[in-house]
Amino acid sequence: MSIYWNQRVKTLSPYIPGEQPRQGGFIKLNTNENPYPPSPKVIEAIQKAAGDDLRRYPDPACMELRSAIAHRYGVMPEQVFAGNGSDEVLAFAFAAFFESATGKQKALPILFPDITYSFYPVYAQLWDIPFRPVPLAADFSIIIEDYKQSAGGVVIPNPNAPTGRALSRSDLVSLFRFHEQDGEGASVALVDEAYAAFGKDLEVAPLIHEHPNLLTVHTLSKAASLAGLRVGFAIGNQELIEGLCRVRDSFNSYTVDQLAQAGAVAAILDAPYYEGVNQKVIATRNRVSAALPALGYEVIPSQGNFICIRALQKTGAQFFSFLREQGILVRHFDKRRIADFLRVSIGTEEEMDRFLEVCESYRAL
Ligand SMILES: *Cc1c(COP(=O)(O)O)cnc(C)c1O
Repeated sequence: MSIYWNQRVKTLSPYIPGEQPRQGGFIKLNTNENPYPPSPKVIEAIQKAAGDDLRRYPDPACMELRSAIAHRYGVMPEQVFAGNGSDEVLAFAFAAFFESATGKQKALPILFPDITYSFYPVYAQLWDIPFRPVPLAADFSIIIEDYKQSAGGVVIPNPNAPTGRALSRSDLVSLFRFHEQDGEGASVALVDEAYAAFGKDLEVAPLIHEHPNLLTVHTLSKAASLAGLRVGFAIGNQELIEGLCRVRDSFNSYTVDQLAQAGAVAAILDAPYYEGVNQKVIATRNRVSAALPALGYEVIPSQGNFICIRALQKTGAQFFSFLREQGILVRHFDKRRIADFLRVSIGTEEEMDRFLEVCESYRAL
């Protein structure tokens, strides 16, 4: 606490990112980074962009990048927004589409799962947006009917994190329909597709043509192996995109730098490379998920590039410490209902072989 902090800063409880150890030696399975490198074309594009042009500001509209994204998803560039990682895009979306308690007299709370990406409550708090966490079912799945009630908006990550469970497209569509009715009741349905590329037929971005209240949020951090570049984007109808631009231009018009724009364009254009990389991640995830139950672990079925697992007869904290002693970093959320689970990002085949070995030795203890 500092006497110089204002009231807002005093009451914040910021997001705590996963550890990024500076020393090597760890098998790092704690922040859902892709274990494979970005496309060589991305590196080439960034190197080419690292020249005299850096004296100029980047294109604030990110036109080339938005056109590449639009082409890939079958939408118009005006239906695409690019930002400095999807965390920034999410923060802007919360600010643009959800009513704060101090705005309208009585704002309806927004809805998101009780066990989900822990940045959502942080943004809600930052912008004074009332929210109501909706409990997951006992098997950690999202009960879509629970979200069909009057709300200031809904936020659904698909697949959900850290559980990895996914909803079907038709379930999501029924939700968009519920919240898109005209008049006072209409509200935005935000689908965070950070991990959609690791699932089967999950992407809903092309459905923005039928659902004016749908905003999908995407990141190059996971599926495009570019967590270090900080590029995310959103797809939605033009009015929604203009709303995001209004927030951005009230904050910082140049959130995506020139090198990031160049690298991101190359990544979007090299879909075949990433198809190959992510098929490998999916195959490894399925292999590890299938092997763990026989070793004494419960695995929540995942469609992400991570799995959520529990060592039978052990607490999450004990299992976490054991893995750390063995040089394996994973993520532990000290939160009701999932405190005994660990989220394990899918690494390379070799890393996951070592992980399975360590899991086997832990069971024998
Ligand atoms: C990783 C993650 C993000 C953030 O991605 P960045 O683009 O790196 O900011 C957003 N949502 C979910 C659910 C994530 O897991």
